[in-house]
Amino acid sequence: MKKVLVTGGTGLVGKALEAVIKEQSPEDEQWFFAGSKDADLTNLAATQALFAREKPTHVIHLAAMVGGLFHNMNNNLDFLRNNLLINDNVLQTAHEQGCVKVVSCLSTCIFPDKTSYPIDETMVHNGPPHPSNYGYSYAKRLIDVQNHAYHDKYGRVYTSVIPCNIFGPHDNYNPEVSHVIPGMIYRMHQLVTEKTDVPENDKVFTVFGSGMPLRQFVYSRDLAELMIWVLRNYESVEPIILSADEVQEVTIFEVAQAVAKAFNFNGRLVCDTSKSDGQYKKTASNAKLRSFLPDYAFTDLETAINASVKWYIENYDQARK
Ligand code: NDP
Repeated sequence: MKKVLVTGGTGLVGKALEAVIKEQSPEDEQWFFAGSKDADLTNLAATQALFAREKPTHVIHLAAMVGGLFHNMNNNLDFLRNNLLINDNVLQTAHEQGCVKVVSCLSTCIFPDKTSYPIDETMVHNGPPHPSNYGYSYAKRLIDVQNHAYHDKYGRVYTSVIPCNIFGPHDNYNPEVSHVIPGMIYRMHQLVTEKTDVPENDKVFTVFGSGMPLRQFVYSRDLAELMIWVLRNYESVEPIILSADEVQEVTIFEVAQAVAKAFNFNGRLVCDTSKSDGQYKKTASNAKLRSFLPDYAFTDLETAINASVKWYIENYDQARK
């Protein structure tokens, strides 16, 4: 019997994993989804107590200080320190308590700022990250360094996945910290529900930045299915990119159009170019993933955004905002 501990189990990806596991109800695995109330993983003693209590054989390590572009830009020191602490506590405790596998989460936004495209798994350390999120990026990059070091010294198969932008139900919609899709969903919901005499056709939805940057997105449910596959089947320390195909890359403006459509918004979309765009693109290749799972069908963006908007409207009161 595998005992799988999911750190960050109460967040966007953790909730998607929980939903998929509930449907699969695997007979040979017990899963425990831990949130920060179960243990503050910046604290070593609390981390050790959680592992001693749950006795995991396997870990999916999601817990992290996570935020969108603007939150990162203003808090690089906190992103660096909190994530360094969390990752070191989780990996060392997993090792000390004999966990045979740990799957941690990196991100495509930690890759070098100046790079060739598409990005692949070999390029994580090939140059400085974008200055907007260097704290988060260096802390995440060190997970890969740690994984190699645990393998070199102890033969551990602690590995990592590299998702692109994730979205879905249970996202963080707080405008101070949110990523692009939950941020748009939050603001679009405010716009369509506000009490005003302005006719809807005259309402204006502001897209932050030029709308031109290109992004790849992965629906949290797809990512959950792929991470479960990694946990059960992927036996390498080297990271693996979990991202939709390159042809599914879209502009920020196209994302705004999909969010507008999901809300049946008939007003105008206007770009505010005084706001930062972040990296123009970070196209990642999922060729490695495709070599294992050539037929995996990613949920298309429109279907996934519709489902996410529906979840937000139906769960408005308890959504993080
Ligand atoms: P969320 O912000 O939705 O959730 C973060 C999770 O981490 C929550 O369960 C939270 O617990 C937990 N957590 C945060 N701080 C601590 C702490 N000090 N101790 C214990 N638990 C803590 O994140 P996501 O689900 O979006 O992200 C999951 C992983 O994916 C992260 O590692 C992130 O870096 C990575 N990632 C995310 C992307 C995205 O677009 N969202 C893109 C690429 C990678 P609680 O809520 O109970 O406080």
